[in-house]
Amino acid sequence: MNDFPAGMVWLVGAGPGDPELVTRKAERLIGLGTVVFHDALVGPGVLELAAPGARLVHVGKRSGRHSKDQRTIDQLIVQAALAGERVVRLKGGDPAIFGRMAEELSACRTAGVPVRICPGVTAASAAAASLGASLTLRGLARKLTFVTAHARTGEPLDLDWKALADPDATLVVYMGKAAAADVSRHLIVAGLPGSTPVALVESASLPEEGQFHTRLDLLPLVARTALGEGPALLLIGAALADSAQPSGRANAVTGTACESAAT
Ligand code: SAH
Repeated sequence: MNDFPAGMVWLVGAGPGDPELVTRKAERLIGLGTVVFHDALVGPGVLELAAPGARLVHVGKRSGRHSKDQRTIDQLIVQAALAGERVVRLKGGDPAIFGRMAEELSACRTAGVPVRICPGVTAASAAAASLGASLTLRGLARKLTFVTAHARTGEPLDLDWKALADPDATLVVYMGKAAAADVSRHLIVAGLPGSTPVALVESASLPEEGQFHTRLDLLPLVARTALGEGPALLLIGAALADSAQPSGRANAVTGTACESAAT
């Protein structure tokens, strides 16, 4: 295939976990790689798309459990390409969203290694689809903000809370589980009503997916008590109100979480 010669790197979005949410292009590229460097968040079903002889290298990073630092990953990718491999760097969701893609891109460019990007379905899209919610709503949510609430160890979250506390926007918080209480407090202090609808989606698109509906002032409790070990998103804003109507599998849990939190 002439878009993937030996010695090249493709930075490939693996989507949120469900192998059917991998694009056809990503599927083809994964199947062509002689080596696949992948994150912890890449689902096992996606890795099965690799060619039988391909080397799968786990370079996973999960909060607090960094198995390889970013510079090491950059070097591994570049070295493999310079050794003549067809390198797939497989990243959860879309590689351009909170994916440290820029570092890998620039490491390749600096080394003169040809590199291209294949986009993927980001977790927010998968979560919204599972919730049956639109992230934007005419007249109600005219703005969509993706933010990460991951702070460096020991450092406070340094976000522009005034700007984020926008009642006309949907706010999607990546890596927000540990910081849920801070997110809730800061947004309320910055003026967002405590009654603002919130949805939490864990392991979106995977069989173990969980959905929880609550409101901004109760978010800390729900995040602490309802979420498990999977990756989770916090979705905040008026656009999430409708998704709380009984229709899907999650709403029984939701009700419990809200009621017990309210009493
Ligand atoms: N590039 C990825 C995001 C990487 S940051 C993307 O576009 O989706 C990692 C964070 O993404 C996790 O902490 C979590 O907040 C979110 N995330 C990734 N996969 C997820 C999933 N299947 N369900 C819910 N959140 C997910």
